[in-house]
Amino acid sequence: MAQGAAGCAGVPGVKVLLTESDIHNRVQELGRRIDADYHGQPLTIVGVLTGSLVFLADLTRQLSTAHRIGVLQASSYRGATTVAGSLEVSLDLAPDLQGRHVLLLDDILDTGQTIATLVEQVRCRGALSVRTVVLLRKLGRQTVPFEPDYFGFEIPDVFVVGYGLDYNDEFRHLPYLAALDGHEIAEAFGGQGSGFGVQGSGFRSQPLNPEPRTLTPDP
Ligand code: 5GP
Ligand code: MG
Repeated sequence: MAQGAAGCAGVPGVKVLLTESDIHNRVQELGRRIDADYHGQPLTIVGVLTGSLVFLADLTRQLSTAHRIGVLQASSYRGATTVAGSLEVSLDLAPDLQGRHVLLLDDILDTGQTIATLVEQVRCRGALSVRTVVLLRKLGRQTVPFEPDYFGFEIPDVFVVGYGLDYNDEFRHLPYLAALDGHEIAEAFGGQGSGFGVQGSGFRSQPLNPEPRTLTPDP
C-alpha cells in the first residue's frame, strides 16, 4: 500500500517523513563511507539503547570491514516531550574498548547532550579513537556544541517515531520514519504544506565526502 502524507499503512496519527527505501539508500551510503574510513582497523560499533537498535542492525550489515558490536544505555526523554530531561547513562553493557576504534551510534542528535556526554565516557575506556554516527540530526535544537562524524538526514524540529524511535515505547517497529500528529509540522517545513517526501521537504542528506579519512588515535 502506498504510504503518503495522509497517513501510513493503517497507523493513524503518524505521517511518513522518510520511507523505508529513503532510509535504506542512505544507510548504504553511510556504510560505504565508514568502510572507506575504517578499512583494516580494529573497529567496534557501540549503539545507544534503545532507539538505535534498528539503525545499528541495518548499518552493521552494510559494512564489509570486520567489526565488533556493543551497546550502552542512555535515556533523557520521558514520553513525547521534546524537552530534554536529566540524562541517565550506563556503560555496564559496553564491551572492552581498549585498543579499539569506537564508532558510537545513536538514532538522533537533538540537543547534543547525550552524544557529547557519551563520547567523553567512552574515551575514558581506553578507545584508540571515538567517532560518532547518527541517523538523524534535528535542526535548530542543539544546545551542546557537537559535530557528528557521520549523519544520515537533517530533519526539522518535529517529534519523530519509527525505525527504532519510540513514543512511550510504542512505534519502534515501524519500518519508516514518521512524525506524530499535533506538532507544528507545516511550520517546520517552511509552509510547504503536506509534502513530506525527502526532496524539497526540509530533509537534507549529508553531502558525501568521497575521500576516506585517515584514522588517528585520540590524543
Ligand atoms: P539529545 O541528548 O541530543 O537531546 O537527545 C538524544 C536522544 O533523545 C535520542 O537518542 C533519542 O532517544 C531522544 N530523542 C530526541 N528527539 C527525539 C524524537 O524526535 N523522537 C524520539 N522518539 N526520540 C527523540
Ligand atoms: Mg536515545
